[in-house]
Amino acid sequence: MSQPCAASTCTHTLRDTETDTGQQLCTPCVHTIRRWLASIPNTLVVLAASTHRETTGSPVRSGTRTPDGPGRGDTLNILGPWAAGTVHDPHGDQTGHPPIAATLYGWVQLLSEEQRYLNPPATVSETALAAWLDRHLERAARQPWAGEMHAELREMMGRVWHITSTRPITRAVTRPCPRCDGLTLTRTDGDLYVRCSECETSWTEAELAADAGRRAAAAA
Ligand SMILES: [Zn+2]
Ligand SMILES: [Zn+2]
Repeated sequence: MSQPCAASTCTHTLRDTETDTGQQLCTPCVHTIRRWLASIPNTLVVLAASTHRETTGSPVRSGTRTPDGPGRGDTLNILGPWAAGTVHDPHGDQTGHPPIAATLYGWVQLLSEEQRYLNPPATVSETALAAWLDRHLERAARQPWAGEMHAELREMMGRVWHITSTRPITRAVTRPCPRCDGLTLTRTDGDLYVRCSECETSWTEAELAADAGRRAAAAA
């Protein structure tokens, strides 16, 4: 029986090794979340810098909001304030966008509540929450809400990238796909996998090298 990956943006069917462990998300999607979480510390530096930049040099503009583009308001929004007691809101009844820390805390709280022996991090900074979620991500990926978590973190990263203009870049890989032979492989900055948009497969560098070796041997 084939079970699709729970991420709404993913068309992978889970492999036996994934369903055996109860994974709801495919391994490439889990790695994508790891990449997002790993980028949080750097992201904070960039966001803090953009807040600083926009508060200096224009002392007479107090009380005004810049109407064009993502401005200081968006940056301050995404950095907080928030309360650690915020109730998790899976149905999106909250208005506005929650700050990074509130989004991360929601999933940390949910997982630590469901797994009684897991204690949430002592500090609830963005970095500490991201590190905690990364440490327990395999367990989180087995929960029925894993797809929802993927969607919410993806949306959060989209807002971050909008402000920092640091969206990871995807480039074409000029070699055929090992599965479908299409010239449809791409690599995204920081992604462990090269992915085929045609047959929806993901490949490690080692797998691609092995395929290149086979092709070279066949052509000789
Ligand atoms: Zn997936
Ligand atoms: Zn392919």
